[in-house]
Amino acid sequence: MQATLTFLGSGTSMGVPTLGCDCAVCLSAVSPAPGQPAPSPHNRRTRPSVLISWQGHNVVIDTGPDFHAQAIAAGIRRLDAVLYTHGHADHILGMDDLRPLSFHSPGNLPLYADEPTALTIERIFNYTFSSEHSYPTSARVDLHRIPATPSAAVDLFGASFLRIPVTHGRQTITGYRFGSAAYLTDLSDLPPESLPLLAGLDLLILDALRPDPHPTHSHLAKSIALVERLAPRRAFFTHISHGLDHEPTNAALPPNIRLAYDGLQLTFDIAPEASEKQKDGS
Ligand SMILES: [Zn+2]
Ligand SMILES: [Zn+2]
Ligand SMILES: [Zn+2]
Repeated sequence: MQATLTFLGSGTSMGVPTLGCDCAVCLSAVSPAPGQPAPSPHNRRTRPSVLISWQGHNVVIDTGPDFHAQAIAAGIRRLDAVLYTHGHADHILGMDDLRPLSFHSPGNLPLYADEPTALTIERIFNYTFSSEHSYPTSARVDLHRIPATPSAAVDLFGASFLRIPVTHGRQTITGYRFGSAAYLTDLSDLPPESLPLLAGLDLLILDALRPDPHPTHSHLAKSIALVERLAPRRAFFTHISHGLDHEPTNAALPPNIRLAYDGLQLTFDIAPEASEKQKDGS
């Protein structure tokens, strides 16, 4: 079953350009001053999120502070579900922008998160979930808990999203495998139990923050080594800071690894078993 993945945002928590920064990458991300080189649109990076679309269904992983503008840019008119990776601001602060989309859903819009993330979402958006505040235009959402078990599944419209434990500094957060693809943002490492869950991938998306090591995010050399170890057919890096200039970084990467950029679309098989059955005519 073919699906399309769209990078709504490929940037780190501060976005690129980073506020107040005059580095070459930040300057190249916006309209340059007269006499400066032409802008590099792929260096303009909003906060990390992906849209996955198949058979008329739309699922988003994370809704950060840029979600409103991202949804307009991607032409999102309806959503069927949202999956969350963890409770940091750059991944959840756009939850309230789900309101108009939730009003158009036939029932409440389902959100899925692990326990710590669900608690954070309920605390920050308490007016949405508290029975005391029944604000009439709150988001009409149901927040479902994903069990902490590795490969715990969220089944949506013939596809299965499996929880992949991801190390993010001192935290363990949630990555997802769905069919032949995996999305592992905010990764500093992978616990051993996650490695077998990532075998045989066509498409691996993982964090690569910058050239130098960082306590809570993987850096370029570490992410390249992880790709070599997991051996997907192709890999794309995301959660990128102003430390990586798009064109020169891409030129130096192995041919099966690219930097993602906002608006990039990829196709992949979201339910390989179903596709095999279709091929067999069964
Ligand atoms: Zn993040
Ligand atoms: Zn900068
Ligand atoms: Zn984070």
